[in-house]
Amino acid sequence: MDPIRIAVVGLGKIARDQHLPAIAGNGTFSLAATVSPHDHAIEGVPHLASLDALLAEGPAVDAVALCTPPQVRHDLAVAALKRGVHVFLEKPPGATLSEVAALQVRADRVGASLFAAWHARFAAGVAPARAWLAERRIDRVQVTWREDVRVWHPGQAWIWEPGGLGVFDPGINALSIVTHILPRPIFLKAATLTLPENRAAPIAAELHLLDTADAPITVDFDWRQTGPQLWDIIVETDAGTLRLSQGGAVLALPSGTEHGEDVEYAGLYSRFANLIRGGCSDVDTDPLRIVADAFLCGRRLTTQAFHD
Ligand code: NAP
Repeated sequence: MDPIRIAVVGLGKIARDQHLPAIAGNGTFSLAATVSPHDHAIEGVPHLASLDALLAEGPAVDAVALCTPPQVRHDLAVAALKRGVHVFLEKPPGATLSEVAALQVRADRVGASLFAAWHARFAAGVAPARAWLAERRIDRVQVTWREDVRVWHPGQAWIWEPGGLGVFDPGINALSIVTHILPRPIFLKAATLTLPENRAAPIAAELHLLDTADAPITVDFDWRQTGPQLWDIIVETDAGTLRLSQGGAVLALPSGTEHGEDVEYAGLYSRFANLIRGGCSDVDTDPLRIVADAFLCGRRLTTQAFHD
C-alpha cells in the first residue's frame, strides 16, 4: 500500500519536537511538505509559506497535520477538507466547540478523516489507569497541573490571546486524561479564572467538577510555578489510591509503580493511520467542553500584569 503523503502545517515547537520524529518513525506516512509563514525549511523537504500555496501548487498530499495555534486551525482545516485531504488537529481541536462540530460535518460530507488528537491520552500510564479504574468506586479526584509559563511557553503571544486558552493550553491535557480514565461522565460545577491585568487569558484556574455518581473532582492549574513542575492526577478509590504523574507517563497503583516510555506521538500517528485506512474520524470534544464551561460560568479575578 502506498504511504500516506502528509504535510506538517505550522513548524513551531511541537511540530519539530514531536510530529516530525513521529512521522519519520512511522512507515505508513511519508513527509511530503512543510508549511509555515516564517520558519526555516527542513533540508530536502519542500516548504511553502501557506497551506493555500501547497494545495494550489503541490506537491500532492493525502493528509495534513495542523500544528499551528488554535485560532487559525479551523480555516486551515476547511481548506484541506475542501480538497478531500485528511486532517490531524493538534490539541485543542479548535478555538470554539461549534467550529469543531462544523469541521466534523464537512469531513463526513467529503469522506475525509478528521482526528482531534489528545496526545496526553497516549501517555504510557493512561491506558492501564483507565483499565484499573473501570473496576473501582471513585471517591475523589485531585488534578494538579502547575508549571512555569516562562519555561514552557516563552514568547508565545498567541497563547495569551482570545482562543489561546492561557493556562488551559496545558491544563486541557489533564482534562483529556481525566475524561478518558474515569468511568463516568464529569461536569463542571464552579470555576475561578485568574487573569493578569494585561492579558486576555488566565494564568491560573481552579475548577470544581462532579461525576455522575457525585464524586468530587478538584482541578488546580497554575502557570506561576517556579519550583518542581507538577502534572499529577490522584484518584482515591475503594481499592486504594491511583496516582498518574509526569503528565501520565508514571502510574502508581497500590501494587507498585510503572514508568513508561514517551510513546504519545507514535500512538497518535498510528491512530491517525488507522482512521484514514478505515475511513473513520475521531473527534472527541469533551476536554474542550469543560474548558468552554469554565469560561462560560467561571468567576474572574484580576492579578498583576504578566510580562515574558
Ligand atoms: P509555536 O511554537 O508557537 O508554533 C506555532 C507555529 O504555527 C509557528 O511555526 C507559526 O509560524 C505557525 N503558524 C501560525 N499561523 C500559521 C498559518 N496560518 N499557517 C501555517 N503555520 C502557521 O506553538 P507550539 O507550541 O508548537 O503549539 C502549537 C499547537 O500545538 C498548540 O495548539 C499547542 O497547544 C499544541 N501543543 C504544543 C505542545 C508544546 O509542548 N509546545 C505540546 C502539545 C501540543 P510563524 O512563527 O512563522 O508565525
